[in-house]
Amino acid sequence: MVEKQPSVVVVGGGIGGLFAANALVAQGLTVSVYEQAPALGEVGAGVFLTPNSVRQLQRVGLGPSVEKWGARVGSGSHYFRHDGAPIAPVQVTDSSGWNATFGMHRADFVEFLAAALPAGVVHTGHRATAFEQIGDVARVSFANGAAAEADIVVAADGIHSELRPYVFPPSRPVFHGSVAFRGVVPHERIAHWPADRWLMWLGKGKHFLTFPVRAGKLINYVGFVPADQEMKESWSAPGDPNVLRAEFAGWDLRIGSLLAQVQATFRWALYDREPLPAWTKGRLTLLGDAAHPMLPHLGQGANQSIEDGMALATILARANRQTAPAALLAYERLRRERVAQVQRGARENGMRYDSAYSDLGVRDAEIAAHAAFRKTLYDHDVVPGAQAAAAALI
Ligand SMILES: Cc1cc2nc3c(=O)[nH]c(=O)nc-3n(C[C@H](O)[C@H](O)[C@H](O)COP(=O)(O)OP(=O)(O)OC[C@H]3O[C@@H](n4cnc5c(N)ncnc54)[C@H](O)[C@@H]3O)c2cc1C
Repeated sequence: MVEKQPSVVVVGGGIGGLFAANALVAQGLTVSVYEQAPALGEVGAGVFLTPNSVRQLQRVGLGPSVEKWGARVGSGSHYFRHDGAPIAPVQVTDSSGWNATFGMHRADFVEFLAAALPAGVVHTGHRATAFEQIGDVARVSFANGAAAEADIVVAADGIHSELRPYVFPPSRPVFHGSVAFRGVVPHERIAHWPADRWLMWLGKGKHFLTFPVRAGKLINYVGFVPADQEMKESWSAPGDPNVLRAEFAGWDLRIGSLLAQVQATFRWALYDREPLPAWTKGRLTLLGDAAHPMLPHLGQGANQSIEDGMALATILARANRQTAPAALLAYERLRRERVAQVQRGARENGMRYDSAYSDLGVRDAEIAAHAAFRKTLYDHDVVPGAQAAAAALI
């Protein structure tokens, strides 16, 4: 008799939850996604995809969508000091020379991840409020009075995860003392701006990043600046374009030419968290920012959530209802160390980006040498390890 694969409920319809659902469906599993918002959507800003996740997007058939909606960045990508003095080129390939680095508008990404799922998989307007395991049944309750049952539940409900306390005692993410101003500018308004490059300027306590999204039609910008106590309270809120312009006044004139075109901007408080000692309890596991919020200074939060989803689906494909809890632990074992390394790397890189060095020559040399680390990050393929972990389950 063929053992039945476990059924899965995913809580959270962000990048992590939606990609995981795609990977689970590709493996033939039955999955439902529950999202609190009345409609799927994302903020008007970009996310940068790197070869370690694009490899997995391709595997579930989403390669053409990445190519269509993304903007590939190329070899002119560069780091500069705040005044425009060049530091080093940006690594845009893995070790084999494969360039799969794409700027992506978050709304486009969420839209095509959801569109690729069979009808009826995603349920919006469902805010999870509680989890319980009754025997072999995993159950989530929602604020609207509904409940969903499955063999396992995946909490992909972001940095402020409602379900994480059911795995690990409640803890608060740590405010990093900085905020990111984010938004996009139509390329036609800054026609001089290269639409095929990732560019970053590094200054004292601040840095400024741009990359193209939506096939180069929009230029995404992020300005990272120190934050005061007041900003700490509102972790995501509209920002003032004039405040943003003032933060980067006196920097490379190119930045001013882009910021002159900013009409609206949003700011995010940046949070970090020590790596969690556990992601899984029984039939509940964590994925994406719910498991490992990290600073954005390696551009890996979403990329790592995609690796998570692929690992989980690859392992669960070989599990059944009985072995599902062991499969979740195997997923956690495979992912926890890799992600902790990336979390630490993001912290270290933030110090470089914010020029927290007495000798900037040393910092510049580290930025140049960082290409080697990027290559190993981008070379990683989560699937062989997941297949080995799945084989060990049987
Ligand atoms: C300034 C900045 C720049 C970044 N740049 C990059 C980058 O270039 N590359 C990169 O890889 N990463 C980047 N990141 C990180 C990346 O945005 C996150 O890691 C990624 O979006 C996490 O995806 P997620 O699905 O785990 O969580 P989220 O995107 O937060 O999605 C969680 C979803 O769950 C829903 N939800 C929450 N609570 C509930 C509930 N109780 N019930 C039901 N649904 C719920 C939410 O509405 C949301 O849709 C950046 C982050 C910041 C702050």
